[in-house]
Amino acid sequence: MIPEDHPRYASLVAREKIADAVKSGIVVIEGASAHGRGEAFDYLLGERTTKSAARAERTAAAFLIRAARPVISVNGNTAALAAGEIGALARASGALVEVNLFHRTEERMQAITRHLEAHGVAVLQGAAERLLPLSHDRALCLREGIYAADVVLVPLEDGDRCSALVGMGKTVVAIDLNPLSRTARTATVTVVDELTRALPQITRSCEELGADEAAELVRRHDNARLLAEAVAAMQETLAHAVD
Ligand code: ATP
Repeated sequence: MIPEDHPRYASLVAREKIADAVKSGIVVIEGASAHGRGEAFDYLLGERTTKSAARAERTAAAFLIRAARPVISVNGNTAALAAGEIGALARASGALVEVNLFHRTEERMQAITRHLEAHGVAVLQGAAERLLPLSHDRALCLREGIYAADVVLVPLEDGDRCSALVGMGKTVVAIDLNPLSRTARTATVTVVDELTRALPQITRSCEELGADEAAELVRRHDNARLLAEAVAAMQETLAHAVD
């Protein structure tokens, strides 16, 4: 039991979810390590949604609601931390949900699908094919899912897959606390914020945004600026660390 008044309550709850998900086979041990990297960057961000990240979240929503075939790509960490939030975003944006794993086994695919379904998420299913220009099982996806998508939301993605999706002409929206990662640098829209803070904000914007504002957000979008603002926010934290 984690006491609710603990100053690091949210972080400890997230760690417990990741640890439980490792035990149930939803998250691989490498995923726990990736979570730790995210925590370190969140510390530098001040564990808050910056003004710039809030704009990125609204812009992400604009791309999603304007898409013809939006798809949310879900991995083990995302399912473990935010199954309910993924369901809410799928409903608000009209996006399909596809499970897509770096460390792919049939058992994990099924465990994650069951976990998402238990949280009310309709998961796209079918026979995965090697449709992405990547070696090994990372090339696998569903023809009527990620392959056919025009906009793909990839929370916590690996850089190679992000760049393969961009290379296929897709708009890629990434959620990644590390503004220096290959994913962050390659995506069309990079939300530098913690997953469980970012998803509800994107969902709310999907519900709120009108067509004109959405079009304007897409038109004015500048990802290099968003990344520079995220790095500046972290520099600011470091600059005042010894005040
Ligand atoms: P890349 O391949 O893009 O250069 P990487 O090798 O760090 O980056 P992964 O190991 O797949 O890629 O790590 C996933 C990324 O997700 C990390 O950059 C980490 O900062 C980020 N991350 C982990 N947990 C969270 C979270 N809860 N919210 C947002 N981002 C997170």
